[in-house]
Amino acid sequence: MRPIHIIGGGLAGSEAAWQAANSGVPVVLHEMRPLRTTAAHRTPHLAELVCSNSFRSDDASTNAVGILHREMRALGSIVLKCADAHQVPAGGALAVDRDGFSQAVEAALLGHPLITLNRGEIAGLPPEDLDNVVIATGPLTSPALAEAIGRLTGEGALAFFDAIAPIVHRHSINMDVAWMQSRYDKDGPGGSVGAYVNCPMTRDQYDAFVGALLKAEKTEFREFEGTPYFDGCLPIEVMAERGRETLRHGPMKPFGLTNAHDPRVKPYAVVQLRQDNALGTLFNMVGFQTKLKYGEQGRIFRMIPGLEGAEFARLGGMHRNTYLNSPRLLDARLRLKASPRLRFAGQITGCEGYVESAAVGLIAGRFAAAERLGQGLEPPPPTTAIGALLNHITGGHLESVDAGPRSFQPMNVNFGLFPPIAEPRFAEAGKRLPGPERGLARKRALSARAERDLARWMEGARQSASFAEA
Ligand SMILES: Cc1cc2nc3c(=O)[nH]c(=O)nc-3n(C[C@H](O)[C@H](O)[C@H](O)COP(=O)(O)OP(=O)(O)OC[C@H]3O[C@@H](n4cnc5c(N)ncnc54)[C@H](O)[C@@H]3O)c2cc1C
Repeated sequence: MRPIHIIGGGLAGSEAAWQAANSGVPVVLHEMRPLRTTAAHRTPHLAELVCSNSFRSDDASTNAVGILHREMRALGSIVLKCADAHQVPAGGALAVDRDGFSQAVEAALLGHPLITLNRGEIAGLPPEDLDNVVIATGPLTSPALAEAIGRLTGEGALAFFDAIAPIVHRHSINMDVAWMQSRYDKDGPGGSVGAYVNCPMTRDQYDAFVGALLKAEKTEFREFEGTPYFDGCLPIEVMAERGRETLRHGPMKPFGLTNAHDPRVKPYAVVQLRQDNALGTLFNMVGFQTKLKYGEQGRIFRMIPGLEGAEFARLGGMHRNTYLNSPRLLDARLRLKASPRLRFAGQITGCEGYVESAAVGLIAGRFAAAERLGQGLEPPPPTTAIGALLNHITGGHLESVDAGPRSFQPMNVNFGLFPPIAEPRFAEAGKRLPGPERGLARKRALSARAERDLARWMEGARQSASFAEA
């Protein structure tokens, strides 16, 4: 049988190789380290953790990343198996001895009879005769390969410093203060006259907000290899430094908006949030890219009327990242529409984090193996954590309706990516649940639905013979 070629032996590539080989398909894994390294990697080992040693919460009942752990274990993940074996104490989190972990992944892969490791950079598109390739080269993909992918996709340079705006869970916005309206009630191609959430500010509130921005602590970010800034989207704190009125004439302009709760009073400034996913559970803060420290973002953005209780699905930040505009470029099985022999996995697809990258590697490895074996494998349903992540990457995200920088941003798994579920109002004993407990009950219900639906999907795949036993 002809092998699958996997480029990049990080979290995603290692997991993809393991999954494909365990499905009975030979794999050639290409890893450029130690012959050539990246700005963040320090060792020659496969699946190196470049920064923290944490796989985050292991709580599968109320945490989305905990659910992803549970699903990966069920699917025989080598990353989770080695993480469990090299765990260090970290409360409710799954943290690992980083060297023990990556050496264990490497040993498992090297010991697999169907996996061959080739040390060397793939410095351009893989040769045309390779018909089933997984590209899992991560956020620090080598420049030669990144440029070749950029030329193929027509998206120009793939690597840039990203300025990211925070994303808020819709259910945590106070709609007694905020209201839905598009500026000048414009009906856009992707939206309606009521597409945006608007948060109004009085003059005093605006002055206090700008004052807080000016005093806030900012992060210095690490520079990698002279990559350019992306499309000149300035951080809000930089705009605030240019003058007290700058934001009010930029992303916080109040024009064309009428406060539905108090139409006679013109807001002095307005913060707008735009729907971020097709489900309508997540909204991003328009024009609010920022380098503020995470703690400062939470404190200062909750000064915005309507966002006092905001829960953030992700905070803003700036960092080097190489990733595809996946909702436009990839099909539901992670293949490049323009060249389906190339499949992508890991952070380069627009997920973020060790666990998410490994999870997307897992499903990419299964898709690639099923294709080689001539079996169709349906994507897991979006009610599962893996399916929710995959859905976000390949189609769940809404393209920005405005001209401007592309709006698809790397994303950790979170409950906002799952299709909504009715919030349970009563405990099993029939007692009415108080507000805070309802949120927890909702997460438990989402977790139970994910567990049930993953089991069904695995059973269906087994019956259609497109699935190797975990
Ligand atoms: C500086 C930094 C800090 C981060 N910190 C965290 C954190 O604390 N927690 C967290 O959850 N996530 C963190 N991330 C995100 C993290 O990198 C990813 O989540 C994860 O490592 C990505 O997995 P991956 O498999 O997609 O890429 P990687 O793990 O980066 O693997 C890609 C592999 O491909 C190889 N490669 C690249 N180009 C080529 C080529 N042309 N030919 C052959 N091989 C190639 C690389 O050497 C590398 O081994 C961080 C990212 C960066 C850049």
